[in-house]
Amino acid sequence: MEHPENSEEFAGLTVNKGVAPVQSINPHLKRGRYARRRLTAGDYVEGILRGDTSVLGQAVTLVESQNPDHQRVAQEVIEKCLPFTGKSIRVGISGVPGAGKSTSIDEFGLHVLSEHGGKLAVLAIDPSSERSKGSILGDKTRMEKLAVHPDSFIRPSPSAGSLGGVARKTRETIFLCEAAGYDKIFVETVGVGQSETACHSMVDFFLLIQLAGTGDELQGIKRGIMEMADGIVVNKCDGNNVEKCQLAASHFRNALSIFPPPESGWQPKVLTYSGFYALGIKEIWDMIYQYIAFTKSNGYFEQRRKEQSKYWMYETISEQLRGGFFRNPTIRDMLRREEQSVLEGRKTSFVAAKQLLDAYYKLI
Ligand code: GDP
Repeated sequence: MEHPENSEEFAGLTVNKGVAPVQSINPHLKRGRYARRRLTAGDYVEGILRGDTSVLGQAVTLVESQNPDHQRVAQEVIEKCLPFTGKSIRVGISGVPGAGKSTSIDEFGLHVLSEHGGKLAVLAIDPSSERSKGSILGDKTRMEKLAVHPDSFIRPSPSAGSLGGVARKTRETIFLCEAAGYDKIFVETVGVGQSETACHSMVDFFLLIQLAGTGDELQGIKRGIMEMADGIVVNKCDGNNVEKCQLAASHFRNALSIFPPPESGWQPKVLTYSGFYALGIKEIWDMIYQYIAFTKSNGYFEQRRKEQSKYWMYETISEQLRGGFFRNPTIRDMLRREEQSVLEGRKTSFVAAKQLLDAYYKLI
């Protein structure tokens, strides 16, 4: 519309036509990361329930974040997703580096997806990943076939924090994946320390991958881990390794037979297979499905999940208490001083600890 001052009446006082305002300083910015709208908890939940893997990935990043604002949103998202969780089969897969976990998971994944349908999420607990600045587990490049499968979601281990913290985040990620429709969850862990216990505490079936000829079967070094296993599978049973693997399997069977019977009432089985040549994969999954049916019918499946929820309540409390204490800036200063007093023998460790705790309780 012409400006009224441009009419004849106002001759001598001409106002030029204005130029149309520019739409955007740089229209390309809209498509870039600057324009990414911050999602609300509701957006995340809606995207997850729709099975949108991009939103799921972002929600997992939020769960893994140390930022308190992110954590608040993450907890809200998890809570809203909870009614849609629990309907999957959760399988823990452990083995020392080189045992063939990634080769096997690739084959296991393809097998369950083709035989049983549904969707598969592969997660990991790798407490070493913080030190190595990159996870050695759950990395897409290690599982070439699954990485390009439309029904799989692969996520490397959360990297920050203590083992308890890393494992809690993996457990929360399980819930998000379940809400997104993943009905098979693998949790991979490296068989060298405490991480198996953490993994065991969030899965329905704990599968231990072993190798023949490592001496473990004779020395029983990993007795604790073997006792946790619902199934032991000896990998690389191919070529001229077959006899050795069968021998190792019988050693494992003997070892298991002297352990007290597990609470589940299920006698753990020992099988041999070859991940690389995809031999014996079906037998392993038949065993896992048998176990699930068995424990569902005797009530142990539900009981184990309830026990796990209780365990994680206590774990979360200890983790948050520890985290709150050690991250507190006043306490951090005080810790340095008190540490020195203890080292120099001016205070006993008990007195120093009590003073620190008293100071913390006053601060919070
Ligand atoms: P991870 O460290 O436990 O994930 O082990 P990988 O899956 O990376 O396997 C370690 C090495 O063992 C690789 O060189 C694989 O090719 C090899 N490997 C894995 N599975 C088998 C198998 O069934 N038979 C044989 N002969 N080699 C295997």
